Amino acid sequence: MKLTFLGTGAADWDINAYTPDAGFRRFSSALVNDDLLIDPGPHIFHFARCAGKPDMFENVKNIIVTHTHSDHFCPDTVKKLCSGGNVRLWGDRACMKKLTAAIGESAAAEIDFMSIPVSRDPYKIGGYNIWSLESNHQGDYWDEFTRLYVIEGIDPKDPSLPDDVICPADVRMLYYGCDSAWIPTRSWNVIKNMPLNAMVMELTCGTAAPNDWRIFEHNTLEMLELMLKTFRKYNYFSPEVKFYTSHMARTLHSSHDELTELLKPMGVTPAFDGMVINI
Ligand SMILES: [Zn+2]
Ligand SMILES: [Zn+2]
Repeated sequence: MKLTFLGTGAADWDINAYTPDAGFRRFSSALVNDDLLIDPGPHIFHFARCAGKPDMFENVKNIIVTHTHSDHFCPDTVKKLCSGGNVRLWGDRACMKKLTAAIGESAAAEIDFMSIPVSRDPYKIGGYNIWSLESNHQGDYWDEFTRLYVIEGIDPKDPSLPDDVICPADVRMLYYGCDSAWIPTRSWNVIKNMPLNAMVMELTCGTAAPNDWRIFEHNTLEMLELMLKTFRKYNYFSPEVKFYTSHMARTLHSSHDELTELLKPMGVTPAFDGMVINI
């Protein structure tokens, strides 16, 4: 399973101040293989243009939504990707409220939307099993359930191998947790038993944010460190699990290079826009 980071920043980044260097971050969004989009944010087409891949969303079949904050959910992006009816949107009912308010009732009704409650059981979405678990965050609506996702994908057999060569199915599991402070207990009780291969943790608050009020809805360095120590103490997840961070705030972090050095002793890699990981 391949994950492309389309954006790795929090909501304080300004796309109008874009410079083509590795330190710039767009709003958080990611693409699984070429067919599953996590968060239809407002900057994903900017990423595609800058990457010289204007058609990179051509094969997207499904979109999952973490929550309706405008850095993660852009009605115009949804309209662009979903018009034509070949792409399905999955998430909380709040997505429809936001779409209706932004593009009107009749245009919103044309979107192929599937409301999925948070659940300890997975949903079959495209070729993936996807757990939609609650995050510790609040979206634009009081009754919205914001989400963390676990995505289980099965790597297809290498097409270069002859048909009579049987390969065991290679099941891979990815955790994507932007935005959330900690991992809520009910979600943790599902996640802790999973052989995760990669975790993308949110890290909104960095060295420039000691004792910050955002600890009630986002992670800080201290929180990340404590979670990692606990994961390792009890050998959670798969033995080779890899850790990444995303959703770094512009005003709460130093440079990407400094963050890379800071996270190295923790065994964590901060993601950057355009980074691709093989899970
Ligand atoms: Zn956000
Ligand atoms: Zn948010």
